[in-house]
Amino acid sequence: MSDNAKQGFDTLQIHAGAAPDPATGARQVPIYQTTAYVFRDSDHAAALFNLAEVGNIYSRLTNPTVSALAERIAHLEGGAGAICCSSGHAAQIMALFPLMGPGLNIVASTRLYGGSVTQLSQTIKRFGWSATFVDFDDLDAVKAAIDDNTRAVFCESIANPGGYITDIPAIAEISNAAGIPLIVDNTSASPYLCNPIELGATLVVHSTTKYLTGNGTVTGGCVVDSGKFDWMQNDKFPSLSKPEPAYHGLCFGEALGPMAFTFHSIAIGLRDLGMTMNPQGAHYTLMGIETLSLRMRKHVENAKAVATWLENDDRIDYVTYAGLESSPYYDRIENICPRGAGALFTFAVKGGYDACVKLVDNLELFSHVANLGDARSLIIHSASTTHRQLTPEQQEAAGASPNVVRVSIGIEDPKDIIADLDQALAKATS
Ligand SMILES: *Cc1c(COP(=O)(O)O)cnc(C)c1O
Repeated sequence: MSDNAKQGFDTLQIHAGAAPDPATGARQVPIYQTTAYVFRDSDHAAALFNLAEVGNIYSRLTNPTVSALAERIAHLEGGAGAICCSSGHAAQIMALFPLMGPGLNIVASTRLYGGSVTQLSQTIKRFGWSATFVDFDDLDAVKAAIDDNTRAVFCESIANPGGYITDIPAIAEISNAAGIPLIVDNTSASPYLCNPIELGATLVVHSTTKYLTGNGTVTGGCVVDSGKFDWMQNDKFPSLSKPEPAYHGLCFGEALGPMAFTFHSIAIGLRDLGMTMNPQGAHYTLMGIETLSLRMRKHVENAKAVATWLENDDRIDYVTYAGLESSPYYDRIENICPRGAGALFTFAVKGGYDACVKLVDNLELFSHVANLGDARSLIIHSASTTHRQLTPEQQEAAGASPNVVRVSIGIEDPKDIIADLDQALAKATS
């Protein structure tokens, strides 16, 4: 990693983790469509299982194509290691798994992707884990929510559905003082716009389904470890700091130092939970990442143009995009995401629920889907779709009021994106 650390983002997104294939010289990372790897002899097999030597055993644990992707994302995020998973939601469970146990909790931001709210408020209870949700702009509330059983703090860098940027250094200071890791979901920003590890995060999670792949082809996820957290500093993380009974008593913290979390996640997390990314999926994401910076620059440029146009249009009540000077979070861009505030935001249409439904139905270039981070412009009216079971009060709290639509601005010609909104708004508000 040290050789590449000096290279720029545009170089790393193409080269990190990928050398010419040792077997064939193939320049592009081959899709290793294979499950098992022949041991040289019994000693080699024993060394691999003891983690004394790094190598492939079985593709539930590691696969050369998937490992190339993990290494590339680790480089882009400035981490020590990474683990690829079958989806973004799998990555969130994998990030928590080495830290948590029955009766333990995390403190999470109220501003999260809707699916993450459900996962953390409901589903993790089945494991005996729980989450306390607080407003991450209220630093005293974050501090107060951390108790003796808290094992992580969880937030998004740029929070879906947009308009909110987390003050990551301030939150990292609180989690550090409590001796627990900060986990940042960097999906909406991508490592091009935001580097949570540089800002103090311990772990970064991604839904690679979104910007990293960038074209709506595969689901995937990733956990990146900074390698900087001292798991031995207290007795809160016995899986990493004490002999691990699930791996013949190996102490990962002692044996693997800054790679303890990564190896634990492969040797136990992937081995026993099996949320593995497949090599075909990794291939699509490797292809996508090669153009990440180019796409993100265009996403941001287009989002700014569209948000500015909307803000000045009489048919619109308000636009929540942190890239607009009117946003209360505009001041955070410089420190948190200096290359831009992403391309995901919401706007409120005069004419309320009915106008929003008509707007969505009359758009031609935009696709009406529950996704984000595609090269295509996407829109969803949350109140009539993903949030339709909620009460009006719950919809408002989630930023999904009946008069609000969420857009993920693509990389088409901005003139065409605006023209499409213009013609559909005319029909929706006439
Ligand atoms: C989509 C998304 C997820 C979940 O990822 P999947 O790949 O759909 O499982 C988590 N966090 C954020 C911010 C997302 O946008």
